[in-house]
Amino acid sequence: MVVMTSEATTEELDAVVRTVESAGGSAFVSRGVHRTIVGLVGDVSHFETLNLEALPGVNNVVRISSAYKLVSRENHPETSTVKVAGVPIGPDTFTLIAGPCAVETPEQTLAAAHMAKQAGAALLRGGAYKPRTSPYAFQGLGEEGLKILAQAREETGLPIVTEVVDAQDVALVSQYADMLQIGTRNMQNFALLQAAGSAGKPVMLKRGMNATIEEWLMAAEYIAQRGNLDIVLCERGIRTFETAYRNTLDISAVPLVHSLSHLPVIVDPSHAGGRRELTVPLARAAIAVGADAVMVDLHPEPGAALCDGPQALVDVDLEELAKAVREIPPMLGRTVV
Ligand code: PEP
Ligand code: MN
Repeated sequence: MVVMTSEATTEELDAVVRTVESAGGSAFVSRGVHRTIVGLVGDVSHFETLNLEALPGVNNVVRISSAYKLVSRENHPETSTVKVAGVPIGPDTFTLIAGPCAVETPEQTLAAAHMAKQAGAALLRGGAYKPRTSPYAFQGLGEEGLKILAQAREETGLPIVTEVVDAQDVALVSQYADMLQIGTRNMQNFALLQAAGSAGKPVMLKRGMNATIEEWLMAAEYIAQRGNLDIVLCERGIRTFETAYRNTLDISAVPLVHSLSHLPVIVDPSHAGGRRELTVPLARAAIAVGADAVMVDLHPEPGAALCDGPQALVDVDLEELAKAVREIPPMLGRTVV
């Protein structure tokens, strides 16, 4: 909707209408006593480049329909289920994803994969490429790590979710991964989003730690634009003024994004809390609020972990998590995968 200034002339109004029509849209003029507004109907993406706000006589432009199309519920009312090598993530089920933060050695990864399976996970997570805040921190094993993950998949039967940090690595990572993960630091790496969208694999898109929900959905739109609607959105905590935990888990995002988008929404409580003792309570909250899956870090020996040891689950915490996963989803009518 274009709102004209109170001084706008008839010529200026005509120019707005002509501009909209030249982009294939229809313009409906509504004259008030003080102001005239122009309603725009048509493909919103065609209006995006018109720069209507800059035309003489225009006061402001108000968006009524969402800026994202392919991922919006507006245009796709039915909730989507994304299948990862046959494992569903969607509205009727609940899926646990678990594994080490990073692939370190074959022994550590296999032990972690067995722990994940034992806890009821249907998918194995693990990073071979680690986007670390410090360049001096462990950066991951690269392709060697992918091979170890493939070995763990072979042993446990669990399909693999693993992060890709660079558009150039998408083809290689796709040879091993069942689902590509895009991390918080890369949520707006548009070249990476497009490459992942073209890879023919489901994509897990984590929310940028400083991203609004609209920015997150616009990032998903980049993947969808490449013809890939197998996208799962992962809330993993955002930056706030609070420093007592690693990030603030934005639990409201789950039902809100479900209302805005047809895509599954999942939660990573490990990277949100950053501390083992917070993971299970946050996971319970995530399940209760309607997350379609939860993804957690675990480690056979957290004290020796090369990445995120303090948040890795082990022993009793893992048993508590397994219990929550068995008990809460059925109360909400979900089948545990
Ligand atoms: C991860 O899941 O391994 C990870 C690095 O998470 P995030 O991108 O959310 O920090
Ligand atoms: Mn981590």
